[in-house]
Amino acid sequence: MTGKIDNTISNKANEQCLFCKIAAKRAPSTIVYEDDLVVAFNDIRPIAPVHVLIVPRKHIATLVDLEEQDDRLIGAMVWRAKRLAEQLGVAMTGYRLVFNVRQHAGQIVDHIHLHLIGGKKLGSMA
Ligand code: 5GP
Ligand code: ZN
Repeated sequence: MTGKIDNTISNKANEQCLFCKIAAKRAPSTIVYEDDLVVAFNDIRPIAPVHVLIVPRKHIATLVDLEEQDDRLIGAMVWRAKRLAEQLGVAMTGYRLVFNVRQHAGQIVDHIHLHLIGGKKLGSMA
């Protein structure tokens, strides 16, 4: 069936969501890239010289809430991370891409975001 209604509470446009607000420029951030699908901005508490968050404009709370039809969105996020890594000069030395998912991973903002982290040698994953 086409036109499936998205009726999960977590996926509804969220007026209170910080990253929805940043994507809509209703909250401040340093945006480094935007298009109709994704927005990328500098993390407010960077853990490395390059620390960018890549988010979809669509509100999806966690990767657990991802649906099959969101695959293009995830592709766009990873593709943008690859391109930004090149533009920010970390593609040759390498970088880390991270999705934190819910409590055990320490997800603190409930709007999916891909961390692009680089510019120094990173420690091993805990
Ligand atoms: P999480 O732990 O949910 O994967 O990561 C959330 C990230 O969002 C953290 O790295 C945190 O520093 C960042 N963050 C939290 N609030 C803000 C904000 O208001 N602006 C920006 N640019 N980043 C934020
Ligand atoms: Zn949101």
